[in-house]
Amino acid sequence: MKRIKLADMTWMEFDARVRDENPIVLLPVGSTEQHGPHLPLSTDVILPEAVSMLVAEALGAIVMPAVPFGYKSQPKTGGGNHFPGTISLDASTLIAVLRDVVNELARHGVRKVVLMDGHMENQWFITEAIDLALRDQRREGITDLRVVKLGYWEFINAETEAVLFPDGLLSWALEHAAVMETSVMLHLRPDLVRADAIPNNPPADFPLYDIFPFDLAPIPPDGVLSSPASATAEKGRHVLGQVVPDIVSALGKAFA
Ligand code: ZN
Ligand code: MN
Repeated sequence: MKRIKLADMTWMEFDARVRDENPIVLLPVGSTEQHGPHLPLSTDVILPEAVSMLVAEALGAIVMPAVPFGYKSQPKTGGGNHFPGTISLDASTLIAVLRDVVNELARHGVRKVVLMDGHMENQWFITEAIDLALRDQRREGITDLRVVKLGYWEFINAETEAVLFPDGLLSWALEHAAVMETSVMLHLRPDLVRADAIPNNPPADFPLYDIFPFDLAPIPPDGVLSSPASATAEKGRHVLGQVVPDIVSALGKAFA
């Protein structure tokens, strides 16, 4: 039986897979972050992990244990770092963790790595970690390591966008704990969605600048940046049905 999760393999199984198949290894990178009154703190872990598992099934790839912490939640994309239960890393810590993990995979012979982001605030720190790990590897004489970075939501195409937002998309940044995440969670983990607590508030209205410390006034007190009221499990199923095959074909090209 071919296992998908690295954590379920023995060291010998992992070693044989790496040597025989040169497999793609996916690392979901999430966050532990408030997602309103209706979604769990692990939403940004569950979603990239689920996408990674489905992609790996199609590709014969391996999925690493997800990194459960991300960069600090920002008001305009995650509600802000002040919400209880939001447990974040300093940028330097996140970069160091991801750099080490990519270097460890390379040390064991993996040459195709995917960092699957589930939390918008992580993006440039993932880029930095990959850049530093590639530099480390070049100094070791390893020049054939390839690392792909992607945010699964970036694969949502115009057709799926129209299914999610028949009245038009406001902005992806304001989609925090809103229609897309709530829909995919209703599809994947309805047991974790507090359906009777799904709010219907107007979108947050932020200034064009960032002020530090955060001005709490424009941040919706429930942490939801635009209304998830139109979320459905069917929309969630549609998102995965489009995004997963598109990521599979993109990775096929990236590692060709
Ligand atoms: Zn999220
Ligand atoms: Mn997030």
